Amino acid sequence: MANPTADLAAELRAALSGHARFDPGTRALYSTDASNYRQVPTGVVFPRDEDDVAATVAIARRHGVPVTTRGAGTSIAGNAIGTGLVLDFARHLDRVLDVDPDRRLARVQPGVVLDSLRSAVAGHGLTFGPDPSTHSRCTLGGMIGNNSCGTHSVAWGKTVDNVHSLDVLLSDGTRLEVGATSPEELDALCAREDRVGQLHRDLRALRDDVGDLVRRSFPRLARRVSGYNLDQLLPEHGFHLARALVGTEGSCAVVLGATVELVPSPAARALTVLGFSDTYAAADEVPRLRGLGALAIEGLSAELVDVVRLRNPASPALPLLPGGRSWLLVETGGADLGEAQAAADAIVRAMGERAEHVVHTDPARIAALWKIREEGSGYSTRMAGSERWSGWEDAAVPPEQLGAYLREFDALLARFGRRGVTYGHYGDGCIHVRIDFDLLTRPGTAEYRSFLEAAADLVVAHGGSISGEHGDGQARSALLSRMYPPEVVRAFERFKTAFDPDGLLNPGQVVHPRPVDADVRPLVAPARIPTRTTLALHADSGDLAAATRRCVGMGKCLNTTGGVMCPSYRVTREEKHSTRGRAHLLFEMLASRVIEGGWRSPEVREALDLCLSCKGCKSDCPVDVDMATYKAEFLHQHYRHRPRPAAHYSMGFLPLWLQLGKHAPGLVNRVFSGPLAPVLKRLGGIDARRSVPPLAPQTLQAWWSARTPRTGTTARVVLFPDTFTNHFDPHIGRDAVTALEALGHAVEVPRSPVCCGLTWHSTGQLGTARRVVRRTARLLRPQLDRGMPVVGLEPSCTAFLRHDALELAPDDLDVAALAAATRTFAEWVEPTRERWQRPAQDRQALVQVHCHQHADLGFTADRATLDATGTRARVLDAGCCGLAGNFGFERGHHEVSVACAEKGLLPAVRAAEPGTDVVADGFSCRTQLRQTAGVEPVHLATLVARALTED
Ligand SMILES: Cc1cc2nc3c(=O)[nH]c(=O)nc-3n(C[C@H](O)[C@H](O)[C@H](O)COP(=O)(O)OP(=O)(O)OC[C@H]3O[C@@H](n4cnc5c(N)ncnc54)[C@H](O)[C@@H]3O)c2cc1C
Ligand code: SF4
Ligand code: SF4
Repeated sequence: MANPTADLAAELRAALSGHARFDPGTRALYSTDASNYRQVPTGVVFPRDEDDVAATVAIARRHGVPVTTRGAGTSIAGNAIGTGLVLDFARHLDRVLDVDPDRRLARVQPGVVLDSLRSAVAGHGLTFGPDPSTHSRCTLGGMIGNNSCGTHSVAWGKTVDNVHSLDVLLSDGTRLEVGATSPEELDALCAREDRVGQLHRDLRALRDDVGDLVRRSFPRLARRVSGYNLDQLLPEHGFHLARALVGTEGSCAVVLGATVELVPSPAARALTVLGFSDTYAAADEVPRLRGLGALAIEGLSAELVDVVRLRNPASPALPLLPGGRSWLLVETGGADLGEAQAAADAIVRAMGERAEHVVHTDPARIAALWKIREEGSGYSTRMAGSERWSGWEDAAVPPEQLGAYLREFDALLARFGRRGVTYGHYGDGCIHVRIDFDLLTRPGTAEYRSFLEAAADLVVAHGGSISGEHGDGQARSALLSRMYPPEVVRAFERFKTAFDPDGLLNPGQVVHPRPVDADVRPLVAPARIPTRTTLALHADSGDLAAATRRCVGMGKCLNTTGGVMCPSYRVTREEKHSTRGRAHLLFEMLASRVIEGGWRSPEVREALDLCLSCKGCKSDCPVDVDMATYKAEFLHQHYRHRPRPAAHYSMGFLPLWLQLGKHAPGLVNRVFSGPLAPVLKRLGGIDARRSVPPLAPQTLQAWWSARTPRTGTTARVVLFPDTFTNHFDPHIGRDAVTALEALGHAVEVPRSPVCCGLTWHSTGQLGTARRVVRRTARLLRPQLDRGMPVVGLEPSCTAFLRHDALELAPDDLDVAALAAATRTFAEWVEPTRERWQRPAQDRQALVQVHCHQHADLGFTADRATLDATGTRARVLDAGCCGLAGNFGFERGHHEVSVACAEKGLLPAVRAAEPGTDVVADGFSCRTQLRQTAGVEPVHLATLVARALTED
């Protein structure tokens, strides 16, 4: 019997220069966006050019398979999912084609990321006005699809206000350029005999039939995003077909290219932060603030700030807020700082005594405050111990109604017994909230539906729009009949039919909707295999299903610059190599519908294979997805009672091999640099291009044992001889001893082998890892009982002792005591720095922060200690070094490992002035630098020792 999907796949593969995938892993990856919904596609196409798009649509049409267009997939309402073919524009069609600064226009492909466009035009003093919080990964195609906008909408409007013309493809293969259409042009177009003529005749007739109705029934507010933009067909809007297509969520035409309008970007900005007693008081003042020329008026609530305080007490944004329990961030701009400040002063004057205020002009401070606001939806996803969901997330009301709406909305929440924290685009009356719906049960989703209906009615009663930003998707399309009269809903259907009579494009969006409580992801795909984990997974009570639900798809892990997350995606640009992709695959693995084989799934293993266990996500993901931990658990379950990859034995057991090797380091080094090395590396699963780091002639412990310890005066401290420092870089340990003793501490280095268990953990050998860390904790118990701190030099081991060990052995009191006693070297020496700090010298340094310092340990003490050594340090924001423990050594990882380093670290090191120190506390970072840049990095302990002993 013929297999329709196989035929479809074969036809596509023959026709495309890009590729099409139909494997379960890819289908699972694209089955959701940033919404609560799940629709598993038949396949996913990655077009290389417009011809590929046209071929895909033609083939899909022949097969009667619907087509869903997709950019970054950050839609929150289920706008970018479908059961047919998904067309991913973000992979290849991602270029800015042309910038015309004089006419303030830019021509782009649909997959271009907003920040790429903004960078391309910034040099001309221009920007694209609409700016969703997802600006670092959302695409112009997606913004056009959803009619996106952001914090600056009070000044620059929505995407619809900034689109000049579109190059579009209809589902029957017709391609046309659309934009504003003069009456004469419209007549000429309508006179054509072809499909273009038919389309324009249908739309003109629609306009003539419903024009007055549209004028009467469309709510008058800036943030009306729900429904099709039929108003753009009206003469007063110039029969602007491009703008009428904005916000159609891929349901009418496929955008192949766009010409967008740019706005001058003020050279200087100021941010006035106004503090109020509560959110209602803040909302009530919004009308007073509008009309004062602000670029943005955003609301922030105390509950969100409390989450930031809990997650990151050192957040630089916290001290920048004035008093209050609710804040408005009001941005003003000008040609120079004086103008921006003057505009801010006008805001402050207008507010008088009604609010506390602080005006910020330092760009770093302003950025820190915007960061809290941008990450609000992530932070608010897990609050007060509850899972919170999107669904009712972006309704808008006229700003003068905002205070009243918020009061009634909170009453509605209370009536349903639900919790949610409101914040968002107060200046345009658009409010965000994540609510603790129960989406895991049928009664819960029924209640979800009742809530959405009641909330829709409330918004409509206030003259608002049920979506003020994210579009309708599956979450709101079925509610449109509560917002618009039936004639308008029918007009939407006529509009869709004029473009896409057979309903091929993104069916279910805006018209002919599916119910809001259908396809709810956690409900339709609950776990079918046991989800209890061997690791404690404290944050999710030992339930991997709950952990995978943390990923709400917001796509911060698709960022290509800044922070650490996610190095593998930055190199491959493959969804499966992003944190999001991995979390979604784990979710689908537990659901066992598309991904089969449970913990033995090859798809999940493949996606996790390039996870560097860098923990970048643990700190950078606003919802704390901790993929390194999930990977350790997966590998543990996946290889249970089965042979493992060679690298798990060679590098997983490294501490053990080194205990043997320490007796003959010279011999070991000769063997691993001699003719046998390639064979040994092959047997050990090590990439042939990697050299095995040479063992030091004498371990730190051996040196210590041979030395007479000095007695100190102020404290006794254990210096932890981690495997890497002990065997490879003992000079760092010796420097640490020098520094600590110079500070008057009596140091003790354990003489027996101690190890945290990290190498077994990262290769998923959890049983052994647990035994190792327990043994170490027992060995150190006497020192712990004496209240001695344990100072670690290697960030990954120190982070492991402090955090991962507790996940591994949650009930072990020795392990808990060790975790509580563990300090980084910087944390231990920094408090004394006033006694010994040196004046700034000419010595320059580049600093590579180890990923586990970034994620688990923090860098504040390190920064202060560096300063105290007199070093002029530039701390890189270069992401992961790419070596990441065993990762970069494993066969098959070399290219990705080096490419990670090339993303930031290596170029920075090459560009550094001669004589610059490169500071890298992590053995992995040092090894990567030694092997790929030929430099010899230093550890902070060495700098401190130098500062304390040099004169
Ligand atoms: C944490 C978070 C914060 C957000 N903040 C904001 C915000 O501040 N403001 C805001 O407006 N939105 C916001 N969003 C929603 C979302 O990020 C935006 O709507 C974004 O512009 C979508 O872009 P995307 O590339 O991810 O598009 P996708 O989600 O991939 O697609 C969006 C829609 O466009 C359609 N589409 C994509 N490409 C094409 C094409 N070539 N032709 C036709 N149709 C196409 C899709 O079918 C879909 O219906 C946020 C989302 C999250 C998760
Ligand atoms: S992993 Fe985190 S950052 Fe990435 S999509 Fe999921 S929630 Fe967002
Ligand atoms: S641990 Fe690192 S590589 Fe793995 S998913 Fe998280 S950020 Fe990406």
